[in-house]
Amino acid sequence: MAANKRKAKATQESLHRIFTIPEAPDSTLGAIEKEMSQNLAGFLGNHIVATDKPLTEIEKDFDCSSIPEDPSFVSDHMRHLLDKLVSQSVHTSSPSFIGHMTSALPYFILPLSKLMVGLNQNLVKVETSKAFTPLERQVLGMMHRLVYQDTEPFYDEWMHSANHSLGAFCSGGTVANITALWVARNNLLKPDGDFKGIAKSGLFKALTHYGYNGLAILVSERGHYSLKKSADILGIGEESVVAIPTDEYNKIDCDKLRKKCEELEAKKIKVLSIVGVAGTTETGNVDPLDDMADIAQEFSCNFHVDAAWGGATLLSNKYRGILKGIERADSVTIDAHKQMYVPMGAGLVVFKNPEAVASIEHHAEYILRKGSKDLGSHTLEGSRPGMAMLVYASLHIISRPGYELLINHSIEKANYFADLIDAHEDFELITRPELCLLTYRFAPKVIQEYLSRANEAEQDKINGLLHKLTKFIQKRQRENGKSFVSRTRIEVSRYQGKKILVFRVVLANPLTSKEILSDILAEQCELASESVSFLPELLDICQA
Ligand SMILES: *Cc1c(COP(=O)(O)O)cnc(C)c1O
Repeated sequence: MAANKRKAKATQESLHRIFTIPEAPDSTLGAIEKEMSQNLAGFLGNHIVATDKPLTEIEKDFDCSSIPEDPSFVSDHMRHLLDKLVSQSVHTSSPSFIGHMTSALPYFILPLSKLMVGLNQNLVKVETSKAFTPLERQVLGMMHRLVYQDTEPFYDEWMHSANHSLGAFCSGGTVANITALWVARNNLLKPDGDFKGIAKSGLFKALTHYGYNGLAILVSERGHYSLKKSADILGIGEESVVAIPTDEYNKIDCDKLRKKCEELEAKKIKVLSIVGVAGTTETGNVDPLDDMADIAQEFSCNFHVDAAWGGATLLSNKYRGILKGIERADSVTIDAHKQMYVPMGAGLVVFKNPEAVASIEHHAEYILRKGSKDLGSHTLEGSRPGMAMLVYASLHIISRPGYELLINHSIEKANYFADLIDAHEDFELITRPELCLLTYRFAPKVIQEYLSRANEAEQDKINGLLHKLTKFIQKRQRENGKSFVSRTRIEVSRYQGKKILVFRVVLANPLTSKEILSDILAEQCELASESVSFLPELLDICQA
């Protein structure tokens, strides 16, 4: 009994401590904090160890299904985290990690994030965020202006208006896309006479009232999977997302888009939204947004642009023209956590018409009262962190021209890498970069030459073997841990539109040097030569 009492008292004391006294500077936590703040890249490089430890092994490291009955010392627990978790994390900020959209962060993000977490503001309402609410509206205004380029008086009128919103901040592109389509859906199926609108009465009554046999979302076959999730939760079903074929440059075929619109109209299926992609996830291409806007206008339907990844290109005066037509969209999704060097959890959607969000307005008694400036009355999420502060700070510290330099650099580096691949005998460039994303594969010259004169069946056989070789190289490279490129399967027109497995590269880290790019190709050649079955077989066929 006495032992139990002592334990309870100790627990109580340590609980008091964790809310009051910080860890001593010479403790494990203190040392980590110092190391991180002095040299984050060094810290990550030192503590993340590249191993090929399989996930099933790592699962055992955390193997404990009951919540501990005994508290731990912070330092002991930190050592556990460093040893088991940090060491086996992915070094996303490494300059040779060029496989995904997640890249390095500027050093100032770390102390600012600490401040943000320390303040622990909740952006759902003014009562828990005060100054953060106008700050977030300001950021939405800046991003709105980046897209739509309205004039000063427009922003003076709408940016801080209680019953309007220029956009919504959210955790990422997925929620931004859902929000955009939610707004589109509720505006399309709005209250009308006796009908109280879809938000109140649901989809079935809405379709009956308006006489539609269904709804559809039209997007190119390169559209992001979050659109299917959106269709699912908005009640119109994944099958209602119609994939429109793309041309050889991975851009939506507008003739086919128009035809599909006509076909659906004849069947009384209303197009809820035409979605343009500005920077496809797999190839980084941008749809012909101006032409899509024309079609949306012709069929009186909503036009949304998913610029989650490519939207930041608008910060470059040199390249923003690639996204021409985006200013005609009803809504635009942009992820600040992709090409704006902000940590994850920073997505947003902006609306051309500040009144559009009225269709998703929600109120409650204790917060979000009518006429309040609470951001939560126009967002899908409830409690939300003050991420807008990190975007606000980055826009000020880096500034528009600073972002332009970063964006231009990435695009130009991607072009350099494409040329390097093109000039290399052992590689085949599959998609040339429009922004800073490209795809390619390992295929020595003899194989490429054979493919160019082979018939379809012969091509299929070679591509089947190359598929295995590409996968082999990509997996080995990841396991080696020196560098990382990702892989995906895309339809390639030179192979009759069949799906080909390719390496995918996103060049966003400013520290990725030309030398690193050469090294990555050299490593891939080396790994290919380690393939004892696929490569020899390929060479046998092609040299015969
Ligand atoms: C990344 C991405 C998304 C999804 O964004 P999350 O932030 O991962 O939710 C949607 N569309 C495109 C084009 C993207 O690149």
